[in-house]
Amino acid sequence: MGGFGSGRPGSGRATADACRSLDVNQLRRAGVLTNGWMGNWQWTRDGERTGSISISGGKQRIALTYRWQRGGEDWQDVKEPIAIRWSACRFGGERPYFVCPGVVNGNTCTRTVTKLFCAGRYYLCRHCYRLTYASQAEDRWDRALRRANKLRGRLGGEPGMLSDVPERPKGMWHRTHQRYLAEIFAAEDAAQERLVLLAARLMKTSQKKTGYWR
Ligand SMILES: [Zn+2]
Repeated sequence: MGGFGSGRPGSGRATADACRSLDVNQLRRAGVLTNGWMGNWQWTRDGERTGSISISGGKQRIALTYRWQRGGEDWQDVKEPIAIRWSACRFGGERPYFVCPGVVNGNTCTRTVTKLFCAGRYYLCRHCYRLTYASQAEDRWDRALRRANKLRGRLGGEPGMLSDVPERPKGMWHRTHQRYLAEIFAAEDAAQERLVLLAARLMKTSQKKTGYWR
């Protein structure tokens, strides 16, 4: 019998952090990628256990066993085998990757990744769960904020939503100043709304559009 792993949600994008993830390097360090390893993997937050799954470890293949519930429905037992691929490092040694077992629109994913996310029934890569949506949304959010900061700078103000509203520079028409402010606030509102909606939206799209693991 093996040890008792403790996985933490990885640092990274907030949206990806909202769901449980498995990091192949964490598993390796805990000895899970060793033939014959059996044990539990748990997630904790502030010292409290927030979730746990059983893992049958191995060098070429691991199998996850856990229970999953879709809002309000009965709990289902899930068993998910995941292949591990090892690739040689440039300066010696080898590095493990998960082979994503996701099937989306009839195509098996098979991407080699270091992280799998449980945003639905199975642990799948971020592409299968369309977590890329998060980074695209983040780009839009960044653009809106950059635009707002640029306009703030043009009025001689400081960047950032929490900074003071820039005053009207000498010689600028009152109406022009008002137009600038309206645009700044619109961009910042859009950015803020995006931030709030992101997590909820992500969970919805991933549940609807993701296919099954076979
Ligand atoms: Zn995938």
